[in-house]
Amino acid sequence: MLLPQADIDNFVKIINNNQSFVLTCHTNPDGDALGSTLALCKALNNIGKSATVITPDLAPSFYSWMPGFKTLHTYERETEDCDKLIDAADAILIMDYNDLKRVKTLGEKITSVAHKHLIMIDHHLDPLIDPEVKFSYPEASATCELVYNILKAAQLTNAIDVEVAQNIYTGIITDTGGLSYNSSTPDLYLTVAELLRIGIDKPAIHEKIFNNKTIRRLKLLGYTLSHKLHRIEKYPLAIMTLNAKELEQYNYNTGDTEGFVNYPLQVKDVIATAFIMERPDGVKISMRSKGEFPVNDFLAQQFNGGGHKNAAGANFNGPLEEAVERYTQNIVPYYAKWLKAQTK
Ligand code: 5GP
Ligand code: MN
Repeated sequence: MLLPQADIDNFVKIINNNQSFVLTCHTNPDGDALGSTLALCKALNNIGKSATVITPDLAPSFYSWMPGFKTLHTYERETEDCDKLIDAADAILIMDYNDLKRVKTLGEKITSVAHKHLIMIDHHLDPLIDPEVKFSYPEASATCELVYNILKAAQLTNAIDVEVAQNIYTGIITDTGGLSYNSSTPDLYLTVAELLRIGIDKPAIHEKIFNNKTIRRLKLLGYTLSHKLHRIEKYPLAIMTLNAKELEQYNYNTGDTEGFVNYPLQVKDVIATAFIMERPDGVKISMRSKGEFPVNDFLAQQFNGGGHKNAAGANFNGPLEEAVERYTQNIVPYYAKWLKAQTK
């Protein structure tokens, strides 16, 4: 991965000339958000810097095995302490997101300290933040892949210990579904090879990522697939929903439904699917697709959302039924129009 030397130089200058760093990631943090922030945090610690990771909301407990997880601060829960950390920091890192809307109230705090050094490391399309140093590479499989390449280009490989490598690998694996999608560049495998050489325990990480579920979570998946998955008749489209009552029945914890959205793509011919669920703070829509069907564009048009071509999300302020109706009424015409444009 070729990173402009000027950006690397600016990054190195900020690291060298400053002492304290706050690293932030998006709400409902996934393996890449946690992996990239925790990896870079530990790497900074390893070169004698003070660094802290702040997540906007609580990180799912099934990632508690990730090195450094216990050191995470949650903005929503410890706002005052987090504000102090941010006020005391010399530089703020914006990682695995590119829109301050993705970090809830933490976004307002970051805006209020925008005079500090701001560094973005991210792989989402169309950034809406303009920081001092911007590593924005939608072609990267994961923010973690960028972190590795930035540290390498900054000649900080000595800061990459096994824990850093483990977190980087975790983000790559979770953001690519175990190297299944967004993972076709040869460079990525060179990075993976280097992480293996550093000494990560690949089987152990896979075991913790994929075989770490509670029986409650598996039963919620079973219920969702058998009762709540619908194919939109005559179209290669699907939808799955879960309301608050159903989630309560299965004693839902944050992150329990992570990955559910992917299942309908296993159906032959289905190329796009949505998973719409009720959350205490509103309705969350996730979409996934195969090939060229751009779910980010659909969600941007209909729900002011965004993300990647094959994986996107949005929030909806209104009843679940209304979100479901808006999806079902608009996805078919959108698909028809898209198909027509494809066959031209
Ligand atoms: P997920 O469905 O896993 O929550 O999100 C899939 C992708 O869409 C992620 O890469 C995420 O950054 C993006 N995304 C999720 N929710 C939102 C949202 O509300 N707004 C925007 N712009 N992007 C989102
Ligand atoms: Mn990511």
